[in-house]
Amino acid sequence: MSIKENYQAIKNQLPVEVQLVAVSKTHPVSAIQEVYDLGQKVFGENKVQELMEKAPLLPEDIQWHLIGHLQTNKVKYIAPFIDTIQSVDSEKLLAEINKEAGKNGRIIKVLLQVKIAAEDTKFGLEISEAKELFQQYLDGKYPNITITGLMGMATFTEEEQQVRKEFLILKRLFDELNQLKTLNTLSMGMSDDFPVAIECGANSVRVGSAIFGRRDYSK
Ligand SMILES: *Cc1c(COP(=O)(O)O)cnc(C)c1O
Repeated sequence: MSIKENYQAIKNQLPVEVQLVAVSKTHPVSAIQEVYDLGQKVFGENKVQELMEKAPLLPEDIQWHLIGHLQTNKVKYIAPFIDTIQSVDSEKLLAEINKEAGKNGRIIKVLLQVKIAAEDTKFGLEISEAKELFQQYLDGKYPNITITGLMGMATFTEEEQQVRKEFLILKRLFDELNQLKTLNTLSMGMSDDFPVAIECGANSVRVGSAIFGRRDYSK
């Protein structure tokens, strides 16, 4: 199937209220432009350097989401233009984003990335840490940031029950924090598990290979 057919097939599977973040990492600018021309405005990249190379070559109204682990010393590069940083996994990073957002006269949207997978390979905050950071935010510690929601990745497994269980953990935390201050975004689900994520309450999904095809890391 072509990128266009893939994109349209994914769009057709998503309820209208679910945001699609098209994950374009490793894929060329031409492929991103093709999906943009079909009406997609929100794209996700996981590496700062790759994002910095691609963004200037693409339309200015693209909303870029950083979805991969972010080192504090790289925040300054993306702070002038990033729409949302989905991968906030430490207090230090949140403080740095707040600082750089301030320097740029911007309010940067962030999601707290919470560790929900049984695998220990994934980055993310423990639930207790996420609650703590959210409380600091409510207390006014990060004036140049808006926490718009939560992000999580489930275990990479065929066992749907396991994946469902993990997504529901994040949904429960989302509901709890949402009582304290309204959140917009629950980002969970990728190419292989986004239908389950939506059943569990996701309203934003991050889909890469199901749109752009398999990633080639050899280049
Ligand atoms: C690569 C990536 C995705 C997209 O994965 P696909 O399986 O290609 O859809 C989603 N979220 C994060 C954090 C990623 O790094």
